[in-house]
Amino acid sequence: MSTLLPARTGNAALAARDLRHVWHPCTQMQDHESIPMVPIVRGEGAWLIDADGRRYLDGISSWWTNLFGHANPRLAAALADQAQRLEHVIFAGFTHAPAIELAEALVRITPPGLERVFFADNGSAAIEVALKMSFHYWLNQGHGEKTRFIALTGSYHGETLGALSVSDVALYRKTYAPLLLTPILAPSPDAYEGEPGESPAQLAARRLGELRALLERHAHETCAVIVEPLVQCAGGMRMYHPDYLAGLRRLCDEFDVHFIADEIAVGFGRTGTLFACESARVRPDFMCLSKGLTGGFLPLSAVLTTEAVYAAFYAEYNAGKAFLHSHSYTGNPLACRVALETLAIFRDEPVLERNRVLAAHLAQRLAPLRDHPHVGDVRQTGMIAAVELVADKRTRRPWPAGERRGLRVYLHGLEHAALLRPLGNVVYFMPPYVVDTAQIDHLVDVATAGIERAVA
Ligand SMILES: *Cc1c(COP(=O)(O)O)cnc(C)c1O
Repeated sequence: MSTLLPARTGNAALAARDLRHVWHPCTQMQDHESIPMVPIVRGEGAWLIDADGRRYLDGISSWWTNLFGHANPRLAAALADQAQRLEHVIFAGFTHAPAIELAEALVRITPPGLERVFFADNGSAAIEVALKMSFHYWLNQGHGEKTRFIALTGSYHGETLGALSVSDVALYRKTYAPLLLTPILAPSPDAYEGEPGESPAQLAARRLGELRALLERHAHETCAVIVEPLVQCAGGMRMYHPDYLAGLRRLCDEFDVHFIADEIAVGFGRTGTLFACESARVRPDFMCLSKGLTGGFLPLSAVLTTEAVYAAFYAEYNAGKAFLHSHSYTGNPLACRVALETLAIFRDEPVLERNRVLAAHLAQRLAPLRDHPHVGDVRQTGMIAAVELVADKRTRRPWPAGERRGLRVYLHGLEHAALLRPLGNVVYFMPPYVVDTAQIDHLVDVATAGIERAVA
């Protein structure tokens, strides 16, 4: 049987075949009795094109992965070239130029002091690596009593059991809670939760006080504090002041716990700087990268850490101090090569400058929504913008989740050439960096009309 479906096969036929065997992520499959399954056959810049020839502007960068457009010619060429040289090799005892060069490049562009790079193959795996490495560091230092992690309320770090353990999004966590480690939850500096009249910076200071109190009680048993710098993405694109990151760095130093920065979603220019930690000029002890790392082409992740952490594992073999974690596709050459080409695009093109112009345009187009009677908040950090839908504007009472208001925006988008995929009541924009202002206008126009339908 051919693996390339014949061109005449349209949406309906492909969707029917899909639904006979494929089990999709993050999906109640019965929904597809009424919600269309969309077979995509081609991508081009910010556009996705389905099997009936309909186009969708990718307003969410295909789950926050894509930076420079679908089927980007430069990335595709690098991938094709690498595929003809070396597709994969065991990464224990063996190495290759794409991994070496990528590690060198990542050390160069991340905050000074991150010197060691451990590769894995997806975001959740990077979180598992950081959690285990932090625990194991303390163990190797004679502190086996440190076994716990502090995470923020509303955080999301992935859905494997360790990553889910330090996540606090009920939708993903609640069902599996009996299987998970119990984190210590610190209240998020999420600016949406500030008191009336309290600035994001004031809230960050208050939250740091609460974190200090938790550390006073728990630092002796805590390996690390893990956060998503600046934007808690899956938790509803909740945003906070960079002062929190600076204060977190000071507290982690004072209380001898690690700082894990999960930049899986916010890294690579999303928040306006290349990495979100730069906004507070902090160096975490671990930085987790994935998603945009390959421009959206291939699964790959990296955990960067300090020489001090590395040194705690470096010992004579029988000391038994080596870090133990491996995935078959660790350091895959195809993925590393595409990541290198992604970094080359950042080097060759004024990506961050262009994003500033696009972000300003997006902000200007979204501003009128602040006055909408069912919008509780419009917020933005660089190339991430979000509109919080509420049932009651004055009290900010949310729509009950069961009403699935955001889903109506999604369906409206599909009918009007836009891929928007609200997180519950939060309609957000996280487009690839190759969008132009006219495409941003299209996304905002479709979202605005979709919001009208959703709140009707
Ligand atoms: C997506 C995401 C992850 C998990 O990455 P996967 O590749 O989906 O496993 C972890 N942390 C953050 C902040 C994310 O947005």
